Amino acid sequence: MAAAATDWSAKYAELVNAERLRTHLAVLASDEYEGRETGMKGQHMAAAYIAEQFKNAGLTGPMPTPADPYQQHFNVEQVTWAEGNTLKVGKTSYKWLVDFYGLSDSPFAEETTIMPVFAGYGIEQPGYSDYTGLDVTGKDVLIALGEPTAADGKALLSADGSPTKWGNDYRAKAQMAAQKGARTVFFVSFDPNANFAKQAARLGPYISRPTTVMVTEKPSRTPSFFVAPAVALQLLGTNATAMKAHLAKINQTKQPVASKFKVLPMQIKAVRKRVPLETENVLGFIEGSDKKEDVIVVSAHHDHLGIQNGVVFNGADDDGSGTSAIVTMAEAFAQAKKDGHGPRRSLLFLSVTGEEKGLFGSEYYAKNPVFPMASTMVDLNVDMIGRTDAEHEGKPDYVYVIGSDKLASELKVINEAQNKQYTQLDLDYRFDDPADPNRFYYRSDHYNFAVNKVPVAFFFNGVHADYHKESDEISKIEFPKMEKRARLVFHLAWELANREGRVVVDSNKP
Ligand SMILES: [Zn+2]
Repeated sequence: MAAAATDWSAKYAELVNAERLRTHLAVLASDEYEGRETGMKGQHMAAAYIAEQFKNAGLTGPMPTPADPYQQHFNVEQVTWAEGNTLKVGKTSYKWLVDFYGLSDSPFAEETTIMPVFAGYGIEQPGYSDYTGLDVTGKDVLIALGEPTAADGKALLSADGSPTKWGNDYRAKAQMAAQKGARTVFFVSFDPNANFAKQAARLGPYISRPTTVMVTEKPSRTPSFFVAPAVALQLLGTNATAMKAHLAKINQTKQPVASKFKVLPMQIKAVRKRVPLETENVLGFIEGSDKKEDVIVVSAHHDHLGIQNGVVFNGADDDGSGTSAIVTMAEAFAQAKKDGHGPRRSLLFLSVTGEEKGLFGSEYYAKNPVFPMASTMVDLNVDMIGRTDAEHEGKPDYVYVIGSDKLASELKVINEAQNKQYTQLDLDYRFDDPADPNRFYYRSDHYNFAVNKVPVAFFFNGVHADYHKESDEISKIEFPKMEKRARLVFHLAWELANREGRVVVDSNKP
């Protein structure tokens, strides 16, 4: 009688264990790694650690740079407002973060004299347009926040009196102004209950904090400034009483009213500083055998939120857990290959940067793929697998699986079969509902594969009280649960790498 065939998948899954996961996570989620903020020392240290693990395990680096084949370097930009921004109308000087502030970009690197065009509420919809007869091309526009309202506060431009997008969100107005060709928008609130100084003080720390952005040719948002009512009234050569009367007339007629305000020149300097920051994805490759042209990507992001107000955000679950999991899986697959049980398809373990800033690392990889997207069969993304959310407290071990049948129905079926055979987790699909407000399908790195028509499965434990808090620490990680989840991804990757047929795109679910 022949011996039963050994289940190598089961044997090598033993290497994906709590102890090994803890070893990696203890390093990545330690204070020494400073919360791994994109482009900062701790993130570079994390990338170097992961590259080292890939190398030690025997994976190859697929980058064409012999000195550093494991890291895909690219630049992001750190953007901050400079000190000493100024705004003057006539002889009056106004103060940055007291009388005015900016969001997004600024074209005013040098002191510039401008004559803003007053565009009322800056609204355009059927039956109401502040832009009729107004050419704002290349100009700076002054817009009042809010929208026409009745005496009882009900919005006049909606059928049922509820606020419209114009009243709710300045960005709708900024977008409309940009569509009309405006260069910048200056927003002002004439609401007597608004307290500009208080708002500026509250937003000050956020506005002053550096933001990290992808390097793009043009800014994605219209430069928008906010000014105190005193600034706008002086600029328009008017006073609060006259402005109140003007707005009351709009409310009465439910139509824009041409203003007789005579705009004065204004001098503004608001400098946006852009400093390039280098960051990197880490890639570990295991070449397949007879089907090596097909590539299976297993991804996680190693970046997190860094240090805020002197406190290190260690991001043990987010996404130290996923990062530790893919490094451990890479080690298991590499050992299997050394022992003569390597995968038929190729595997790329992709540890991306910049996720917390806006999925930058996966976006960069998707635009600069090392293996063609057409050859990339799936992306299995692991982002937060070490904890339990409130929904599953005291319930059987589970994992959310997101997106697994959106592009390839078979992927979900294969994952279910692997789970049934090996891990018996409760697979929770609730976030596949396109109506779910969390929109997790769009919120981690797999999405940059899905937009390129690469089927994805996203493994996730859901959010919890320590999500994006300094308390996301390794002491709270549930390693037995994390081990099970990592093993499910391992078994799925193993099956996908070794099965006869390629997973094909056969659907396009929302
Ligand atoms: Zn995350």
